[in-house]
Amino acid sequence: MTATRGTGLALSGINHFFGATQALDGITLRIDAAEMIALLGPSGCGKTTLLQIIAGFLQPSQGEVLLDGFRIEHIPANRRRVGMVFQNYALFPHLSVFENVAYGLKARKTPAVTVKAKVAEMLALVKMSHLAGRLPGQLSGGQQQRVALARALAIEPGIVLLDEPFSALDKNLRLDMQIEIKSLLKGYGVTSIIVTHDQEEALSMADRIVVMNRGRIEQVGTPDTLYDRPATLFVNQFIGHANFLKGTLAAPDRVILQAGAEVTLAAPSGLAVGSAVLLSLRPENITLTAPGAPGALAATVRLTLPLGAAEVIEAITTSGETMKIHRPRSPATRSISGDTPVGLVITDPTGIGLFVMPDTPTA
Ligand code: ATP
Repeated sequence: MTATRGTGLALSGINHFFGATQALDGITLRIDAAEMIALLGPSGCGKTTLLQIIAGFLQPSQGEVLLDGFRIEHIPANRRRVGMVFQNYALFPHLSVFENVAYGLKARKTPAVTVKAKVAEMLALVKMSHLAGRLPGQLSGGQQQRVALARALAIEPGIVLLDEPFSALDKNLRLDMQIEIKSLLKGYGVTSIIVTHDQEEALSMADRIVVMNRGRIEQVGTPDTLYDRPATLFVNQFIGHANFLKGTLAAPDRVILQAGAEVTLAAPSGLAVGSAVLLSLRPENITLTAPGAPGALAATVRLTLPLGAAEVIEAITTSGETMKIHRPRSPATRSISGDTPVGLVITDPTGIGLFVMPDTPTA
């Protein structure tokens, strides 16, 4: 199926207070029809609150929610075209798979013949037709999740909300289900929002990721943009692994590192020469060379972690910074033992992130 069934969603100036606690602070966001969005952020950043406002379980203290251009804050949850997959699926334990999927349709007083046809269509979509008569307790975690998704899609929602949908699954099954659910939602053409605190899940599932911190949006972007060009130190630390090197901006295009080397790169305009800065390097942007090689940063290997096809080497710079280096394992690259002196070379200077050291005033 290639039809676009999803609707666009716009959030404008959403603030939400629980008593004196401000859970959401000025959330403004536009989501396109059929887009897959991940809300990502640490515990307590406001993801669930935002999801509940979109679903209609909570009314925002301030701001507008528009589905397909129409304001919906006043519309109760059961009258919104919003499907919900809850964290532990929340299937009715005493109802069969068929009855679970039929539930929302019956609540909407859908004629029995339409209910039957729609449930059959949904169970076929999630490949669960053969288990229609089972109770949820007789299903595996992955099967329960498929039923929960079929139930959410049965009401023909314009948007589906998934709250930590993979947290109840073990690691191996999780990856399989991520692939399956992504292709299912994309194929079905519905707009979807996944709440997660797992950055790998967000990176692998979403068209765009919304990174939240303390009730605010830090950055919205594609997985590549957030990984390659994080706008803030928080995003840089939250998405992927970051190696930080302390230094001083010696000229608009030159940083002198405490670890004893110079790096040429363009600093953002407005950053005063002399500012204390942090350079961020992804683990795959560093290669190892012989100690003392020209331009290389001196370091000592602390340990090597073999990870199947790859290995991670942890090395300490002369100024005490811990650097993780990712490289493929092959017969040609032997693991390096601890205490070995090495040189660290930055492979791609354009991939370096530069941030003002926290608490350092900018010009
Ligand atoms: P988690 O990943 O742990 O589920 P979250 O990002 O979903 O966290 P929220 O549950 O949206 O975060 O909570 C945002 C903030 O609002 C937190 O500071 C939380 O303590 C507070 N909060 C949430 N629900 C309530 C409530 N019912 N009453 C008071 N404070 C609340």
